[in-house]
Amino acid sequence: MRKIGHFGKFGGRYVPEMLMPALEELESTYESAKKDKDFQKEFKELLRNFSGRPTPLTYAANLTEKLGGAKIYLKNEGLNITGAHKITHCIGQAMLAKKMGKKRLIAETGAGQHGLATATVAAKFGFECSVYMGEEDIKRQRPNVFLMERLGAKVIPVSFGSKTLKDAVNAALKDYIENVKTSHYLLGSVVGPHPYPTMTRDFQSIVGKETKKQIKKLEGKYPDVIIACVGGGSNAMGIFYDFIKEKEVNLIGVEAGGVGDKIGEHSARFKGGSIGVVEGFKSYFLQDKDGQLQKTHSISAGLDYAGVGPELAYLQETKRVQFQSITDQEALNAFDLLARVEGIIPALESAHALAFAIKIAPRLEKQKIIVVNLSGRGDKDLFIVAKAFKDKTFKEFLLDYTKFYEQY
Ligand SMILES: *Cc1c(COP(=O)(O)O)cnc(C)c1O
Repeated sequence: MRKIGHFGKFGGRYVPEMLMPALEELESTYESAKKDKDFQKEFKELLRNFSGRPTPLTYAANLTEKLGGAKIYLKNEGLNITGAHKITHCIGQAMLAKKMGKKRLIAETGAGQHGLATATVAAKFGFECSVYMGEEDIKRQRPNVFLMERLGAKVIPVSFGSKTLKDAVNAALKDYIENVKTSHYLLGSVVGPHPYPTMTRDFQSIVGKETKKQIKKLEGKYPDVIIACVGGGSNAMGIFYDFIKEKEVNLIGVEAGGVGDKIGEHSARFKGGSIGVVEGFKSYFLQDKDGQLQKTHSISAGLDYAGVGPELAYLQETKRVQFQSITDQEALNAFDLLARVEGIIPALESAHALAFAIKIAPRLEKQKIIVVNLSGRGDKDLFIVAKAFKDKTFKEFLLDYTKFYEQY
């Protein structure tokens, strides 16, 4: 194993020999794209005119006043097309796939958010697209499956193992190994073997770059605290990366505390995990003694993942980023509060970052500034939130809907 793509002892490229040429090709294509002015220009152009960048940095005046402490700003990534930050690295990777002459994109998805972003760029760039998804997840996430199919993607049910995300990863990898010449594996976060964590972080770093400019203009200085939720870590690395060298800015990552501290009740890798090598990279994982991934839980699908990006593991070890966890209930409370006082419905993932800001803001002086990365908007969470708030009329609507469905 060559010592490449490491962040301290984390990261690397632990994959079967037959995948090496493809990862080397991806790495060299990416390295040349980084220096290619036309590539960078086209990427920026797509972010501006397709995705809708720059996203605003919104002062949450009512929330700030209510909490009575630090000023809270929201970097509203939910205003991107498809409703979250994910589209940014999907656009970047689709451009690289085109450069490599690939005809097809492969992805795996749990709740469907990454599948949806991948299907979106496949439609935009004219790729064939196969999205692997566990049978259990397909049942629970029919609306996203429907949308992916409308976008022209083939959603392939995975019927072995637990029929969820980790089985979908295995099925997608098998496809990739068999079709590596024609297909690009589009990974959805700052995880996986090198060069994915570096490449995805670089694409997402636009979030931190914009935030720097925006807050300088609004406040004349950098924030005191930046908070982001951490699933794989792409939205967090995106907003953190350009601030790592600004030592006065505190960076806080928020993991899913779920419903308790026992195995299967949360997804807090830095609280309950240990170092291992899984899915091609070395990092913190929630795993048993044999390195089998444990069951995880979070009310937010995007944070419900057993591993974390290797660069975040390194930043945690070197204490540049502090990690905290927020429970399902705290995230729901934050979701509710933001909707009521600011008119912004956040994704449940982003509500975790927001919940931590709500905790600390009252204790900070009024001239302090907190920026929360609002990684997505909450429309996608409609069904989960209606259930969590025990909305009886929503349940009646679901039961009644078939009547309407048959009418035309
Ligand atoms: C997928 C997702 C996340 C988690 O992924 P990261 O790679 O950790 O950013 C967070 N927020 C939203 C809205 C998502 O869709």
